[in-house]
Amino acid sequence: MFSGKSEELIRRIKRAVIARRSVQVFKPSIDDRYGVELVRSHDGDSFVARPVRSSEEILPLVSRETTVVGIDEVQFFDGAVIGVVRSLVAGGRRVICAGLDLDFRGEPFGPVPVLLALAEKVDKLEAICVVCGEAATRTQRIVDGVPAFFDEPIIKIGAKESYEARCRGCHEVPRRATSGSSARSESTSPGRVSSPKARD
Ligand SMILES: [Zn+2]
Repeated sequence: MFSGKSEELIRRIKRAVIARRSVQVFKPSIDDRYGVELVRSHDGDSFVARPVRSSEEILPLVSRETTVVGIDEVQFFDGAVIGVVRSLVAGGRRVICAGLDLDFRGEPFGPVPVLLALAEKVDKLEAICVVCGEAATRTQRIVDGVPAFFDEPIIKIGAKESYEARCRGCHEVPRRATSGSSARSESTSPGRVSSPKARD
């Protein structure tokens, strides 16, 4: 987040359009911050994207003439998106995926590690650490004013939460296991609700 990945996806899609390629863009439908039909950057640039509930919906929606497929927020899809991307590429299409490689805990995010390995070209974008000003590669999640625990639910009802860019050194994840799974065995307060949530 804050690294300009939506801007970069939009830039590449627009270049493909200028080059008269036929382009389609998809994104997970959980990302409804700006309405359901746009990929939008923080500075307001946008491109029409088709929201889908799962990656399986993508292939039947890709037109025969489409040569470039963009997928935004790819980290929120499950592992099946890898097969979808491979199928699109095998069909001769160029696929551009944008997403977070690490979640707020600093752990590899969903299908992204495999997509990184399979990709011809990978650009890791950096934000600026809000604490020290170095290049930021991590997303700091803050819930009710303090760093979120490793096992914090993705959505806490009623909690005030925010995200900010941080470098590895300034990234704080209380209860992260340094060996074994001790951190995971600690309990959180009951009654919290977990569900996927989109962010950039
Ligand atoms: Zn820092």
